[in-house]
Amino acid sequence: MPVTINKRATWAAYVPSAKRAHAAAPPAPSTNPNWDPVGGVFVHHRGPASPVATDYPTEADCLRDVAAIYGEHTQDATFNGDIGYNFLVCRHGNIYEGRGYERGEANSGDAGYIDGLGRNAGFYSICALMRSNHTASEAMLRSYRALIDHLRREAPRRTGTRILPHLHGVATECPGNLTMYAQPGSTIDPAVPWTGLADVHIFAAQKWVNTTYANAPGYLRCPEDGRTGWPTVLSLTQGLQHELGISPTVQNFGPGTFEAVKQRNKLPVAETNANLIRVYNAALWCKGYWTSTSQGTWSADSEAALQKLYADAGLSYSNVTMRNRMWPYVVKALLRMDQFQLVARGDVTVQRIQQRLNARYVAEVGIPAMSLVPCDGIYSRDGQQGLMMAVQYEVGIDLNAINGYFGAGTQAALKGKGSGPLTGDLRYLFRSACYVNSPTMLPGNPQVPLAYRPEDLATDAQTTTHLEWLRAFQRFSQLPVTATNDYTTWAQLLVSSGDTSRPATGCDCITEITAARGAQLRAAGYLIVGRYLDEHLPPTDPYFLDKALKPGEPQAILDAGLRFFPLFQYNGTQLANFTQQKGYDQGRIAHQKAVEHRIPAGACIYFAVDYDALDTDIDSNINPYFQGVKAGLAELGNRYTFGVYGSRNVCLRVSREVGARWSLVSGMSWGYSGNLGFPLPANWSFNQIREYEFQPGWGLDHDVWRQGADPGVSALVPVSEEF
Ligand SMILES: [Zn+2]
Ligand SMILES: [Zn+2]
Repeated sequence: MPVTINKRATWAAYVPSAKRAHAAAPPAPSTNPNWDPVGGVFVHHRGPASPVATDYPTEADCLRDVAAIYGEHTQDATFNGDIGYNFLVCRHGNIYEGRGYERGEANSGDAGYIDGLGRNAGFYSICALMRSNHTASEAMLRSYRALIDHLRREAPRRTGTRILPHLHGVATECPGNLTMYAQPGSTIDPAVPWTGLADVHIFAAQKWVNTTYANAPGYLRCPEDGRTGWPTVLSLTQGLQHELGISPTVQNFGPGTFEAVKQRNKLPVAETNANLIRVYNAALWCKGYWTSTSQGTWSADSEAALQKLYADAGLSYSNVTMRNRMWPYVVKALLRMDQFQLVARGDVTVQRIQQRLNARYVAEVGIPAMSLVPCDGIYSRDGQQGLMMAVQYEVGIDLNAINGYFGAGTQAALKGKGSGPLTGDLRYLFRSACYVNSPTMLPGNPQVPLAYRPEDLATDAQTTTHLEWLRAFQRFSQLPVTATNDYTTWAQLLVSSGDTSRPATGCDCITEITAARGAQLRAAGYLIVGRYLDEHLPPTDPYFLDKALKPGEPQAILDAGLRFFPLFQYNGTQLANFTQQKGYDQGRIAHQKAVEHRIPAGACIYFAVDYDALDTDIDSNINPYFQGVKAGLAELGNRYTFGVYGSRNVCLRVSREVGARWSLVSGMSWGYSGNLGFPLPANWSFNQIREYEFQPGWGLDHDVWRQGADPGVSALVPVSEEF
């Protein structure tokens, strides 16, 4: 980050002539032997709103203001006869020298020590040219950040990592709207990535809720950083609970809170408790709606924001009965991180589906277990649950039994009513399920994506485009191509396991496949079996599975008329297993084992992620692990390719971001967050849909093998050939 610090002479030109020479001269060297700014920086602003101050429209206004500060600070001896700040930053992004690297006097003198360091003797002070009625500009924050970076790494006197507001331990409102940035980890901290502007209204709400409910039983403070997030909306939830007489307060909007909002039965426009108005305004700010800038006032902006939220959620505001009945649902949604406005990656048709789920199944039907689903245009876990509940209602499940789970009753109803001719709402849900599983893939090399047409959602007609998509989806999913809404297709659209009773030609197990077992598998219709290349535990370990391929077993499998695919898993259920180094080591071991078993070049080895890895896990560990696998295999000549075993999301991301050749999807774990709201990966080769006891003591995973996908191993390298 290059930084330009403008010399004192730039602003000294605006200082009255009597003092101009002193102002323009380099700062006097500090005579204080304790001056050593190793502590960090103090953040300042220009002070309270002033009727004579300007909004700094031009650079001349900035220079004039620095000169004015110099004038104020040199009126008496308080600041040792010079400007108190070390540096000043303006809203245009310019940085000005004050005392420079010499000791300044702006951080409240000797008002206590911080970690043994004097407030002035151990810290730089940086003043932003803005007053309490101003907010920081991006240019100002970027320069502030660059200056701190300079002071940490390049300055003749280097500073430490603390970033403190002037008000730290001192009664002052300085640095005003910069306070939310005056802490390590904020966007002006060069040690963390730039995160842009924070929101001053959210900051005000955070300060208010922390101050007001500090002593409410159970209350947990939220950070005061001007950024929305779960900690803030949960603190607001506790404020709401306190106002509604719930004690102790908890960080959860449960049935008790819902009931209390319902009992109060007051929309904000009729609300008399100003603190509740503050909670509602704060929650609207956190949701990204422009509402009242006066916290305790329900303004026209507030009312417009609430109307917009109702509309975004698919709810009627003009219908007063519905408006009132939906209010507790809206409050609950307000105090979650769900989005109701289309997000950047969002799809407007998905948003319409989400809004319709709310309009019909929350507002009109009133399914007791259903909350408002987010309307952000992204199909996710909540949308999937909402869609499932809607399907349950339309196929005739009792209202109080609707739970969003793909249970026996739902399956039976889908085999009955769901598989008949569809019209109206149930037809809309079937096609919505198609839409959210779109695009599907048309065969070819490369495969061609086929998107579901939004126009086909709105009609009962069996359009050719609808039927074409349905056939493509069935073919892609390895289902019978019926072009109808049969049970198997419903199941495939709604849950990652699909129809678990459907036949499959693949399987995998931890059991040695002997000649006899191979014959049993073949007789049961299996053509390919997955087997582990290795096991890391010794036979004495209580968790030893004896799962590794045995010498001679590959030949026995082939002799039984089967093919096989190699699996690799050490501690695949633990996040700690997934590091780049372990991936590298395990990739090399997998290669060696495959060579020992005479597996020919080109075979795909599946590395397992055997738990519900979240996106954050994938970022931090799973992807680095696969990078390691890739590097380990590459170093040994890329004799083998790698595949990924895991949830749909793990498979999608590792394939896209690291380059896994094939995906073995753990579809049977349909409750995994990584399997909810994600389509089958385009490169899926196996879908593990069920586990069962094939023979007494012999457990088997039932894997749908996709025609044309990874053929597995069908021949071994002859013994005569040397590697
Ligand atoms: Zn200050
Ligand atoms: Zn400026």
